[in-house]
Amino acid sequence: MAANCIFCKIIKGDIPSMKLFESEKTLAFLDINPLSYGHALIIPKHHGAKLHEIPPEHLTELLPVASRIASALGCENYNILQNNGRLAHQEVDHVHFHVIPKPNETEGLG
Ligand code: 5GP
Ligand code: ZN
Repeated sequence: MAANCIFCKIIKGDIPSMKLFESEKTLAFLDINPLSYGHALIIPKHHGAKLHEIPPEHLTELLPVASRIASALGCENYNILQNNGRLAHQEVDHVHFHVIPKPNETEGLG
């Protein structure tokens, strides 16, 4: 846990979130500023800013959970995104994978 980390505060429950999945090592919740309907974030509970800082045993569930969320959303088209560092557009320094559904053009948002 890192005292000033927004996502660690979400894990602790100090900041509310719309949770989609939770296990001992992993948490998934809706993005507060979604790029499309269903935009989700999947994080390891182990704090680390960048992917290479997280022990591998804390990463094993992330992609399977992303896959399950995409499947549950029923979206045919989606992006999985994971940014590391400011130049790579990372804003929150706690590793996270985005699941960003791409709705059909007629469906609005996105
Ligand atoms: P990044 O640019 O670091 O890859 O993405 C960070 C994401 O975290 C952004 O999409 C942003 O909307 C989301 N985010 C930032 N603060 C919060 C928060 O307090 N709650 C939730 N649910 N999402 C957040
Ligand atoms: Zn953190």
